[in-house]
Amino acid sequence: MRLILLGPPGAGKGTQAQRLVERHGIPQLSTGDMLRAAVRARSEIGRRAKAVMDAGQLVSDEIVNQIVSERIDEADCANGFILDGFPRTVPQAQALNEMLADKGLGLDAVIELKVDEAALMQRIDRRVAETIAAGGVVRADDNAAALSKRLDEYRLKTAPLSSYYAETGQLQVIDGMADMDAVTQQIEQLVAPSGR
Ligand code: AMP
Repeated sequence: MRLILLGPPGAGKGTQAQRLVERHGIPQLSTGDMLRAAVRARSEIGRRAKAVMDAGQLVSDEIVNQIVSERIDEADCANGFILDGFPRTVPQAQALNEMLADKGLGLDAVIELKVDEAALMQRIDRRVAETIAAGGVVRADDNAAALSKRLDEYRLKTAPLSSYYAETGQLQVIDGMADMDAVTQQIEQLVAPSGR
C-alpha cells in the first residue's frame, strides 16, 4: 500500500502515519524527519537545508525529490510506504509520479486531513509542551514566527495539491478536527476495504 498524507503543519499527519506503520507494517517516509536527520548529521544536504527549515520555508524540490527517490528503493519499502510531508508542491507531485512510474509502482490513496487553521497554533503549542515534558528537544521551527511562515508556504505551494489529486481522482478528504482515534478509523475505512 502506497499512501500520501496531506495536510498543514499540526494537522496530525505524523501521528496518523505512526498508527498506519503499526497497523500495516510499512514505513513512514517523513521528508521533515529525513531532513532533520541530515541537519543533525551535518551532511551536505543538511547544511544546505538548515537555515531554510529554521525559517519555515520549503527546501528545494531537487533536494527532497532525490531523498525520496533513494529512500523508496530501500528494502523496507517493498510492500509500500506512507509519505508524510511529501509531496509539498505540484512539481514534487509530478516528480513523484515520474519516479513511481519509472519504478513500475503506483499510488493507492492520497488522504487529506482537513483542519481548522485557528486550531493549528494550539496543536503546535501542545506538541511543544509534550516534547518538553518528555525531556525531548523542541523543533527549531515550532515557534510562532516559523509556524506562520510554514502556513503561508502551505497555502501558497501545498494547498494546490488538493486540486491536483482531485483531478487525478485519487484525493480522499477526511475531517482532521475529529479526535485522533476517529481520524484513525476514517483512514482505516479508506485503506482497508481493498485489503492492501
Ligand atoms: P515537516 O516535519 O514535514 O513539518 O517539515 C519540516 C520542514 O522541512 C519544512 O518546513 C520544510 O522546511 C522542510 N520540508 C519537509 N518536507 C519538505 C518537502 N517535501 N519539500 C520542501 N521542504 C520540506
